[in-house]
Amino acid sequence: MSSASDTKPCPFCGERIKVTAVKCRFCGEFLNKPLPQALPEDEEDAGYEGETPAARRKQGDGSEQVLMWILPVKRSFFAIMAGYMGLLALLPYAFVFYAIFPSEARRDTLRTVLYLGVGLNLLFGLLGLVLGVGGIVLIMKGAKKGLPRCIVGIVGGMLGAVIYPIVVVNFINRFIGP
Ligand SMILES: [Zn+2]
Repeated sequence: MSSASDTKPCPFCGERIKVTAVKCRFCGEFLNKPLPQALPEDEEDAGYEGETPAARRKQGDGSEQVLMWILPVKRSFFAIMAGYMGLLALLPYAFVFYAIFPSEARRDTLRTVLYLGVGLNLLFGLLGLVLGVGGIVLIMKGAKKGLPRCIVGIVGGMLGAVIYPIVVVNFINRFIGP
């Protein structure tokens, strides 16, 4: 016999279980592991909070299980890295501020700094694009999450690998000289 005070809803399946239970007798989840929605990275996935781990497991097929094993995080490594690469690809835009007050003495330094920015942006921007597209492919297969990060990767990648080189090469040709 149990009263309401010595039971609680299982955080994974919602069945009422003993407060002291270590493992849910309905869904078999261990209760001492952190809840999925307790992870700080999850605020952008509010729509998925009602989904139980058991329901999520049922959706997975063999290839997704392999992906989960290779990339052992809910949000794909692709999405996470795409987000970082997209942000890194924006950093060399700061170099343009250096160009606001060009002087004769700084001309060579300025050209070097701007070309360095182009190199960095080609690296980070292309990585952001590739990882962002890869992350979206995983999301469309239902294996992963992290769409906002993929978009940051793709948009940042475009701004970095495509727009920045065009802007900077034009700027150098027009105002600094080859
Ligand atoms: Zn349960």
